[in-house]
Amino acid sequence: MRPSFQPRLINDPFSDPGLYIPFLYEKRALLFDLGQLRGLSARDLLKITHVFVTHTHMDHFIGFDTLLRIFLGREKEIHIFGPSGFFTHVEGKLAAYTWNLVDEYETNLTLRVTEVHPEKILTRMYICKDRFEPQSEQIRESFSGILWKEPSFHVEAAILDHRIPCLGLSLVENFYVNIIKEGLKELGLSVGPWLNRFKKALYEKKDPSDEFPVTREERGTVIKEKTFALGELAQKIATISPGRKVTYITDIIGSPENYEKVISLADRSDYLFIEAAFLDCHKEIAQRKYHLTAREAGELARLSDVKHYTLFHFSPRYNHMADELEKEAKEAARRE
Ligand SMILES: [Zn+2]
Ligand SMILES: [Zn+2]
Repeated sequence: MRPSFQPRLINDPFSDPGLYIPFLYEKRALLFDLGQLRGLSARDLLKITHVFVTHTHMDHFIGFDTLLRIFLGREKEIHIFGPSGFFTHVEGKLAAYTWNLVDEYETNLTLRVTEVHPEKILTRMYICKDRFEPQSEQIRESFSGILWKEPSFHVEAAILDHRIPCLGLSLVENFYVNIIKEGLKELGLSVGPWLNRFKKALYEKKDPSDEFPVTREERGTVIKEKTFALGELAQKIATISPGRKVTYITDIIGSPENYEKVISLADRSDYLFIEAAFLDCHKEIAQRKYHLTAREAGELARLSDVKHYTLFHFSPRYNHMADELEKEAKEAARRE
């Protein structure tokens, strides 16, 4: 069974952190962290709708310009989340450029920026035509762990300690709809964009007795092929399985408070992406710099009971020693 989203680290583990999460069957992607984005093509970048920035140290935020550059002049809204103080950092980036000609654009780009606090989330809009001046109105919502919610998935966050607030992130899929090819064949149906509409109806828990028209497109015209009851069609062409969970943890000190929060956020993830900046023999440096060691990363993978884990954000001092970091984490992940 293919997962419906396929997370991948943008860069090698010695380069800037960042997780790209494209969705299967949809021209859409999420991004965790905004480090150097050279590893993504323009096509990849244009799929991004939501960006979650753990904190604004340069290696996690320098990609903001790349993202802004590619979307400038397009009709698009991008939602960007970050920890407390995030508005100041985004506004600082936007203030670096001259925007005197943007009112001539025919399209409009909107940045919807959300700042995450322990009990509230604040959202401000920055509109290209207004030279990215912050809109006077600010939206305030309560925050109890969920940053973004859609019918098929949600994104959770925990505020962790990196001597500054740093977000830990989880993408949680509600359930997964898998299409049975033989079922399609038996009904004489071919694959097409209608499958997205079909899945969406299931994610939105539409009434099984609702009519569902299967359509195909010919030269831009939508043609109705057959109509089914949604539940009946689902029985013939779909299997439903538990959704996947992807967790991303980086730039945190291995403190008891962080451990507790990470274990609860990452609990039984299918994929955990976790920093392993230092070897445990350099734990003193790791603690001073508020980073995890490889042993701690492995331990957190074990304590969170994750299926797979991937290490990243290695300190350059271990150039050619990536194996050592992997080995140390592996031993800690296995230990009972
Ligand atoms: Zn950092
Ligand atoms: Zn970092």
